[in-house]
Amino acid sequence: MRRLEELFPFLASLEGRPYPFYKDLKGIWRGDGFDLRFVHVQGDPFASPSVVEVRYPAMAAARLRVFAHPVGQVAVEDFLLRALKTRFRNLPHVGGSGHSGRVFVEVESPKVLRRAGAHLSPQGLYLRFRVGLPASGRRILGKEAARLFRALADRLRGFLEELEVEKLLAHVHQAEDFAHIQERLPQRGLVAFVGEGAILPRESGVSQRPLKGAVPFQSPPSLRVSFRVPHKGEVLGMGLPEGLTLITGGGFHGKTTLLEALVHGVHPHIPGDGREWVVTHARAQRVQSEDGRSVVGVDLRPFVHDLPLGQDTSFFTTEDASGSTSLAAAILEALELGAKVLLLDEDTSATNLLVRDARMQALVRRETLTPLLDRIGDFKALGVSLVLVVGGVGDYLDLADTVLLLEEYRPREVTALAKAVAQAHPTGRAFGEPHHPLRVVPRTPFPESFDPRRGRRARVKGRGLRELAYGEEVVDLSALDLFENAQVRALGAWLQRLWRLADGRTPLARLVERALVEAEDLFGLEETPELAEVRPLELGAAVNRLRSLEVRRVEE
Ligand code: ADP
Ligand code: MG
Repeated sequence: MRRLEELFPFLASLEGRPYPFYKDLKGIWRGDGFDLRFVHVQGDPFASPSVVEVRYPAMAAARLRVFAHPVGQVAVEDFLLRALKTRFRNLPHVGGSGHSGRVFVEVESPKVLRRAGAHLSPQGLYLRFRVGLPASGRRILGKEAARLFRALADRLRGFLEELEVEKLLAHVHQAEDFAHIQERLPQRGLVAFVGEGAILPRESGVSQRPLKGAVPFQSPPSLRVSFRVPHKGEVLGMGLPEGLTLITGGGFHGKTTLLEALVHGVHPHIPGDGREWVVTHARAQRVQSEDGRSVVGVDLRPFVHDLPLGQDTSFFTTEDASGSTSLAAAILEALELGAKVLLLDEDTSATNLLVRDARMQALVRRETLTPLLDRIGDFKALGVSLVLVVGGVGDYLDLADTVLLLEEYRPREVTALAKAVAQAHPTGRAFGEPHHPLRVVPRTPFPESFDPRRGRRARVKGRGLRELAYGEEVVDLSALDLFENAQVRALGAWLQRLWRLADGRTPLARLVERALVEAEDLFGLEETPELAEVRPLELGAAVNRLRSLEVRRVEE
């Protein structure tokens, strides 16, 4: 083992050498109070930057064990990566080719997520980051490298001692309080909680920062609930009950913003985000229409039956789904994966799957679609709740358990009024006798579905939040709710793991849960510090969008 002081002269001695000489950095450099380890050394200045790990010994890390709940540990690790990112700000400028001199600590969103870049254990703490080792063309800039690493070492020294403990505690307590509420939503008969004063809108469509000057959330008195949480004590807010909830109101009064906040609320947020007290059922999922997606072997009969020319929909497969069939598939797939709350916005849902009104019922006799409206009772029987944003479709008023009306971003509960309106303005539509029970037929995928090879080599690469290059294809993830590139990478890693785990017998839902448990080691993967947790619902949704997917029905 070499000493950290030797690192700087060593780097300087590489001056002018060809880039591969950097490979000698690999291994541990022992410092005072921490070690640096070069985990991966890039092959050239344009390749993915090198992975460096800083390790603090158990003694130094012991004071970070300030959590009582597993999510608290995740929060400590999340906090440390954010703090490291801040600590590495304004490093001396080091130029050169490609990524020369650039330092990356991967945290992209205000979500508290389990991340591969940090891990606290009884043995100590490690944090991983990337550094572009400097070069001019393919020649090492050794003196610049020495200067950069001296600066990094200076920042890492005293890092743990100088942490803002108050902030750390706030971060951890927030996440633990969040988990406390989330775990108790089902027993309270709720699908979501939105705390008093929450700031829901974001600065812009591309920003995750809270909108300045926004109207703080105010819960309607009739839906106000309180939770006694371990750290903050009592918190008040709106509790959305199970069943069918409608979020309605005029255009631009904040309907989508509220739904969006619920979508994000499956994960804890950092203090200051504005959505800290938005807590959504852990098994909630947004579903939407997605023209052109692929669907494989879904029994669509609960929503689509008797296609022209006798096409069967009990094992529906298409490379190019329509608005309605894609939404039907998304709903049934979510149920198959164990979703308990479905979040839908009229704006992104095919109208013909939402409703068929009296006039269309009279005119079109040979209808192949059963709209969601005719299945509300079945969802209740399954114990699955729906939160639906509606601006134009009033037919749901009769069936809703809770109706929220947003006016200037303030929700009112208008369930009784909605019932009265429904009585005064009957729709005249006949509630259809569904052709087929609402039942999910589990599917089991074949292992070849997950073969990521293209030619002889595996090709798995995220492209922003919306696409994953996987083997021969590009998987469209735009309908999934992913918040960081690190989650897209994680999906790629877990899909590859499914390749090994799939046996042609295990149903998809179980396989996905198993992959996430058995592939825990992925969080320890040294060479990729950029992995962040995804839920089984997202992993399953990615599987369902693989064009290479092949399944068979599991008959029970
Ligand atoms: P809707 O879905 O009802 O048409 P949106 O949710 O899209 O409305 O909101 C319309 C606009 O109002 C958006 O630009 C959003 O950022 C803004 N907005 C939403 N909620 C608030 C709020 N609480 N305070 C201020 N502006 C808000
Ligand atoms: Mg809207």
